[in-house]
Amino acid sequence: MQAPVFEIKHNSLEDGPGIRSVVFFKGCPLNCAWCQNPEGKNSVSELWWEKETCISDGSCIEECPENAISFDFPHFIDRELCTNCFLCVDVCPSSSLKVSGSSMSVDEVISKIIPYKTYFETSGGGVTLSGGEATLYMKFISQLLQELKHAGIDTLLQTSGYFDLEAFEDFILPYTDIIYYDIKIMDPLQHKEWCGLDNEVILSNFTRLHARSLTQHFKLLPRTPLITNITDTEENISSIASFYKSLSITRTTLLPNNPLWLQKLGCLGISGDHIMNDEVGLIYPAGKQEVIRNQFNGFGIDVDFG
Ligand code: SF4
Ligand code: SF4
Repeated sequence: MQAPVFEIKHNSLEDGPGIRSVVFFKGCPLNCAWCQNPEGKNSVSELWWEKETCISDGSCIEECPENAISFDFPHFIDRELCTNCFLCVDVCPSSSLKVSGSSMSVDEVISKIIPYKTYFETSGGGVTLSGGEATLYMKFISQLLQELKHAGIDTLLQTSGYFDLEAFEDFILPYTDIIYYDIKIMDPLQHKEWCGLDNEVILSNFTRLHARSLTQHFKLLPRTPLITNITDTEENISSIASFYKSLSITRTTLLPNNPLWLQKLGCLGISGDHIMNDEVGLIYPAGKQEVIRNQFNGFGIDVDFG
């Protein structure tokens, strides 16, 4: 059994408690305009170009059989012409061209994680599955989670919540200690506009999992990305807070926009025009974070910032 992975990051202090290894899966059913990991959207391997290190010697242009590379193209590589043969990667002298994503087996993933087990044990950390959307590969991550638990390693899943709940309860839940669950936009039409699909499945899955989390072994922690004029509007924050209050949820995490993802779009040859407003290219302002914290506090909900 194999699944597409675009990165395994070690010694992370940001993706859950303690020191963690994070496995990023490739592929997602949603298409959020502000996705912080745009290389996780597409399930197939993609060409990644880092402009900053390119020495412009043109080796890739000569090598490409499809004439898909030119200094005259707006994004250097014409993705319509590119067939992902990756011949150009082999000739690039500065490693500016890379392949994003590779198909891995459970054993391969485990072998990269096990050397870090001592760090997990001494720090209260573990392994985080992220993406993309890891639940696209239910049976694969079920096996991976079981092997991690068998090795005595704590597990955390970051999810958009867009999955088949019955399969999730059978394959994933028994082997997951913590779930970070994204609640982005409450209005179904706006959710569809900005994330590609409406939120009915996401909200109903969350409600059911929250009820189970009250009596079962796992923790369910909701999170909301703060994206200027999209997720952070007064109306959306109030709707999210009301939803939590109706479930007696008293704590949430907010993820202020970090514009680093805009650089990643460039590496994939994607224009950021679909999302740009005056502020989305900036670090999210601290003052606005406090306004939104106060809004949640007004509903009796404490806020952490991630
Ligand atoms: S991956 Fe192949 S087709 Fe695409 S730009 Fe490189 S050499 Fe050309
Ligand atoms: S081969 Fe590499 S360094 Fe040379 S032009 Fe292409 S991307 Fe840039």
